Amino acid sequence: MAQWRDLGGDTFTLSLEPLRLNIGLVIGTERALVVDTGEGPRQARQILDAVREKTDLPLVVVNTHAHYDHYFGNAVFAAAGVTEFWAHENAASSIAATGHDVRAEVAEREPEMAAGEGEHTEIVVPQAIVRDQPVLVDLGGQSVTLFYLGRGHTDGDLLVGTSTALFSGDLVEEGSYPEFGDSYPEEWADTLRHISALRHRYEHLVPGHGGLCTDVAVRTMAETMATAVRSARQATRESPHDATKAIPILPYGPEQSRLFIGRLKAASTLH
Ligand SMILES: [Zn+2]
Repeated sequence: MAQWRDLGGDTFTLSLEPLRLNIGLVIGTERALVVDTGEGPRQARQILDAVREKTDLPLVVVNTHAHYDHYFGNAVFAAAGVTEFWAHENAASSIAATGHDVRAEVAEREPEMAAGEGEHTEIVVPQAIVRDQPVLVDLGGQSVTLFYLGRGHTDGDLLVGTSTALFSGDLVEEGSYPEFGDSYPEEWADTLRHISALRHRYEHLVPGHGGLCTDVAVRTMAETMATAVRSARQATRESPHDATKAIPILPYGPEQSRLFIGRLKAASTLH
């Protein structure tokens, strides 16, 4: 059974295999807030059981972004009485538009979710929306701040700030290359610098996947990405018809480098 890690201030985190996904829990006096719901009903039930070991309070859910491992468990929480699901507006649109199309991703571990058959396999789209302005969610005795710092890992990454911790979603990952599939690499580097500038406000930084991160790790991630953007641009200037030339010089694995270049081009930032 996965164990909660106590971050102080009634804030907890739970790391789940196999993706080292970090779930968050913040407990107020009237409600508790859960950060991300896992990749399907099987994992979500595990999360809900763990939450219920900590609190019986009514729950509120936040989905940090529109990738399946962060919201495919929503239906289990809806069945448990949750009516308030928060997300950035772009993430909510993306979940509504693409949720059904990505079911196959979980075929191995969540066959019911992949098939869309069985209990709690529906796509639950967040209806509580965050736009450019931060939103305070009152839990009784304490509130949690949901805010957006611009595009990065996706175009709708929400950050969740508590009295002791910052949950960054996949804007920050520990122990693996950043995942560029839906990203905006140049803006992502800026967003990471912005996160790094918040270092005095939060004692702990909880990435979307992997172990707790230091501020130095976030700054390094930002600088590496900014350097990669410059290198890719230079390589493209030198061989304008073959952007893949940049792949070997980028500080990421070949697959992530390919995605990185594709996304840079899509954002028309390669001049
Ligand atoms: Zn993600």
